[in-house]
Amino acid sequence: MQQANRFRLVEERHIPEINSLARLFEHQKTGARVLSMTNQDENKVFGITFRTPPRDNTGVAHILEHSVLCGSRRYRVKEPFVELLKSSVQTFLNAITFPDKTCYPVASQNRQDLYNLMDVYLDAVFFPNIPPEVFAQEGWHYELPSQDAPLKFKGVVYNEMKGAYSSPESLLAEYSQQSLYPQGTYGLDSGGIPEEILNLTYDDFIQFHKKFYHPSNAWIFFYGDDPEQERLDRVGEFLDQFDPLDVNSQVNTQPRTDMQKRVEESYSATDESDPRCYLTINWLLPETSYPQLNLGLRILDFILTGMPASPLRRRLIESGLGEDLAGVGLETDIFQMYYSTGMKGVPPENLDRVEALIQETLQDLARNGIDPEIVQAAMSSVEFALRENNTGSFPRGLAVMFRALSTWLYDESPFSLLEFSDVLEQIKLRLEQGEKVFENLIQEHFLDNTHRTVVLLRPDSDMERRIQEMENQRLEEARKQLDQKQMQELVESTQKLMKWQEEPDDPEELARIPRLTRSDMEPQIRTVPRREEKVQEATLLMHPQPTSGIFYLDLGMDLHFLPQKYLSYVPLFGRALLEIGTFSQDYTALTTRIRQLTGGIVPVPFSHSVRGSSESTCRLFLRGKSLPEKVPDMFKIFRDILTQVKLDNKERFRQMVLEEKSGLEQALVPAGHRVVGMRLKARYSEADWAQEHMSGVTYLLFLRHLLEKIEKNWDQVLSDLEGIKSLLVHKGSMLVNITAEEDALDQGRQYLQDFLQEIPREEASRQHWKWSCTPGNEALYIPARVNYVGRAVDLESGSYRFHGSSMAATRFLRASWLWDKIRVQGGAYGAFSSYDHFNNVMAFTSYRDPNITKTLQAFAGSGAYLSRPDLDPEEVEKAVIGAVGEMDSYQLPDAKGFSSMIRFLANITDEYRQNIRDEILGASVENFREFGQALDQALREDKGVISILGGQSQIEEHQEELELENSFRLL
Ligand SMILES: [Zn+2]
Repeated sequence: MQQANRFRLVEERHIPEINSLARLFEHQKTGARVLSMTNQDENKVFGITFRTPPRDNTGVAHILEHSVLCGSRRYRVKEPFVELLKSSVQTFLNAITFPDKTCYPVASQNRQDLYNLMDVYLDAVFFPNIPPEVFAQEGWHYELPSQDAPLKFKGVVYNEMKGAYSSPESLLAEYSQQSLYPQGTYGLDSGGIPEEILNLTYDDFIQFHKKFYHPSNAWIFFYGDDPEQERLDRVGEFLDQFDPLDVNSQVNTQPRTDMQKRVEESYSATDESDPRCYLTINWLLPETSYPQLNLGLRILDFILTGMPASPLRRRLIESGLGEDLAGVGLETDIFQMYYSTGMKGVPPENLDRVEALIQETLQDLARNGIDPEIVQAAMSSVEFALRENNTGSFPRGLAVMFRALSTWLYDESPFSLLEFSDVLEQIKLRLEQGEKVFENLIQEHFLDNTHRTVVLLRPDSDMERRIQEMENQRLEEARKQLDQKQMQELVESTQKLMKWQEEPDDPEELARIPRLTRSDMEPQIRTVPRREEKVQEATLLMHPQPTSGIFYLDLGMDLHFLPQKYLSYVPLFGRALLEIGTFSQDYTALTTRIRQLTGGIVPVPFSHSVRGSSESTCRLFLRGKSLPEKVPDMFKIFRDILTQVKLDNKERFRQMVLEEKSGLEQALVPAGHRVVGMRLKARYSEADWAQEHMSGVTYLLFLRHLLEKIEKNWDQVLSDLEGIKSLLVHKGSMLVNITAEEDALDQGRQYLQDFLQEIPREEASRQHWKWSCTPGNEALYIPARVNYVGRAVDLESGSYRFHGSSMAATRFLRASWLWDKIRVQGGAYGAFSSYDHFNNVMAFTSYRDPNITKTLQAFAGSGAYLSRPDLDPEEVEKAVIGAVGEMDSYQLPDAKGFSSMIRFLANITDEYRQNIRDEILGASVENFREFGQALDQALREDKGVISILGGQSQIEEHQEELELENSFRLL
């Protein structure tokens, strides 16, 4: 087809909000939609999305999302996706299943790399190679390695969803959403319900791909500083190979009804003596495509619960009826939006009152009006966030893609939510004219809305057992149905699958996957300018950066002024500074003022090892940001919270402790590998030990104890807090880190001078902490159907001296041996390894893992794998590219300034970093082997330490081998 008329330009516009020229095309032959955004952002993004509304709960869309990345027409290897992970400098590479769409996004700062990723992804989605083995591995299958072995269900998605269904929060989110859409697409779980995944057949799975993975059902997105013509040429080549197809992928909408439904479900808990329930109220809202309504509801969400002073949040928290808020708030990523709010940690006798309180609060707000100060704080917060567009390490372009898709996928304009300026101005104007914008939204969409449900989730200590029994029964049934011949067939297919999984890829096929080479890598490290000076007794660091005018201010207080017994108080103390109020403003007035005048201030407890020292650098940071004209106000806020904080508000402090506790409990299952990793590393370094006290299991146990202490001995708690304040808040403890436009820095220094005048000078002395390394293996019990298995070893015994190549070797291990053994063959969702070169410690963890000992065996074999004689130099090359990519990870200006400060604190010089980069770039097979031998020796000689988070019965089965010295129930 002629290039000129391959694509039809549908619409073109300049979008100043994201500094982009946007051009919307249609592929003439197939109707594929292409949105091309051109701008200065070097973090380029490509994404292809298919509309894939599920028709059942078998998780077919999710299993397909995994499976198409397991080899394709042009790339005949088992896992091209993993090959890309190994050898690309990507800044994002993943695939995501949503309730109605499946997205394949990639991002990279390197143009050739982006094209490589794109090419592999396009071939994968349009021409995947998905034999029954892939379906079995990623979806589900019967595992029967021999006639007398127990029959089991296996599969990556099956296990992943078992993990998801172990978390009460994800259950609550699923049930809340599903309750509103009994007849619609969103009443189903596109991820799959574990028991129903087992009903999916290979044939249905293949049909799903045929039906939906077609250009006529594709939404394609480009973003960044690369040329548009090349984008179109590259994607056009794939699209041209198809004829148009009439795809029925409409989302089944839910008719609005008079629905006053209550849904009662249970979640798995180990203990019912102190039952804690969840409750949400949920409302069906209109479609996403009305910009004013959409943005208005986002602001309303912020008004209701986004700030400590938010009226709904405040009343719920202050009621003491439960521990914290629950519910996802406003959901805008699906066609028919919904709102879900409620509480968790609610004793059963309080449930009705929570429901009534939500209703009363909304009525009160609609009738008597919302405090205009709160409205203004929410307006300026949302505007700040929209303009700053700070997506952290997540590519900005991807955030733009998802926002565009939230209307575009439903055949509306992709631009309506991206062009927010006018919409925001209109809302402001309506407010100025006295219109009760948000009160009216509450009345219409909440109070007068009868399409509403209440979802209750109660603990059930027998649930785990029942589910297991059901699974066992199902397996028994299946086994009974099998005659001798069928059994033998199952043994053979199991063995065939195992053999297929273990068979190495053909090196020639592997070599076809496009990738960068060492010579494409920039040899020099990226540096961030930094100026250092003393202002009074404080240290000031400044980083000139193009920040679009935003002024970033980090203020860090040195925690080494505290005795170690206070460490676990630090996160709470940080929150108290910002959220408990001062002598002149109570907490609602203070937090509202912060939101009106700044882009937000957050507390960040931080610790890091210091190169060449056994002591760590530990600080409590307050990280703030503001527009240029509000910088003096921000400094005044910092002054007030540090000098006038009024700590003696017992009730408010107790609420914060409860929120911290329930937040941490909620994170245990979804972030189990991090919990375990932290437990392990805490044995080896002061920095990790301190971190564990401020965010790990030790912190959780502290919070539980503290709740009792607040009741029994508040005076003591208060005097601890006052003590912390006097030890931390003085000039000598302060480090100030400013990241801003060059011309704002001098002024910043002036404001700092004035600020420091009011901070006391203290003759405090720094403390040496005696942290101890408690030996022994441990098990932490939670009510989960999966495990998180971890082990750490000290490479000291292998007398390894750090060499930069070890960073590439660790990556290689993760993407090869650990991936194959633990994910592909073991059926876990993931496995990680990290080498801490400051302390010479290697840590392994697994994620949503059905196994324990098998995983530990895989960890134990990793040194030998790395040091084996036939290590392929090509694999080393790939790992080098990946490691360089990791070093050059994309950062927005505020992150650059913060990283530069960390390097300053941790004594990581540019020279040292350059040396590491040189060593990575020069890494050889020999280097890998050397690291492997040291690791192998350590794994054999140093028993190291094992930590496992998981279900008690699963862990107790292996009690003997694990030599547990310590075990306790966490949830
Ligand atoms: Zn998945």
